[in-house]
Amino acid sequence: MVIDLSDIQSLFETYGQRPYAGEAVTQAEHALQCAAVAELQGASDELIVAALLHDIGHMIDKNDERLAENGKDARHERQGANFLETSFPAAVSEPVRLHVAAKAYLCAVEPDYHARLSPVSQRSLALQGGPMSATDAEAFRHLPFANDAILLRRWDDLAKEVGRQTPSLEHFLTIVEKTLVGRTKA
Ligand code: FE
Repeated sequence: MVIDLSDIQSLFETYGQRPYAGEAVTQAEHALQCAAVAELQGASDELIVAALLHDIGHMIDKNDERLAENGKDARHERQGANFLETSFPAAVSEPVRLHVAAKAYLCAVEPDYHARLSPVSQRSLALQGGPMSATDAEAFRHLPFANDAILLRRWDDLAKEVGRQTPSLEHFLTIVEKTLVGRTKA
């Protein structure tokens, strides 16, 4: 499978107006806000694209909404990363794969991080297995792309603000285009 720009565009057109997992913004608003913060912070093109597409798993998994309604975790980070790794470098797919683990990591290492999460994020953390143990947190810190995943996680937490102005999807698609490698999985 090779992803091209029009695939990303049509996923946003089809699923972008869905609510973002119980928060007051849509999937598209959340994605654009996350990418906009990444860009403002001077992130690499790959990490901006990871920010834009970090929840693409919610868009490509048809069972995602039903599972969430039933209080199950659809592992959207794995679905998303497996999709992205077919056509983007690891610097895009791996922070996406680790962004949920990064939340559990931050809960383990920053005492006030959990309290600052939105109620929806606190609930999904419980579904996803809760904060990491000290041993798991130590192992996480050494994974490739752990630092990028932690940055992505912090931007993710900030990208839930109703009515915030952001650059358009078209703006970010030009960055997506630069990072697409069209690599097919053997
Ligand atoms: Fe998110």
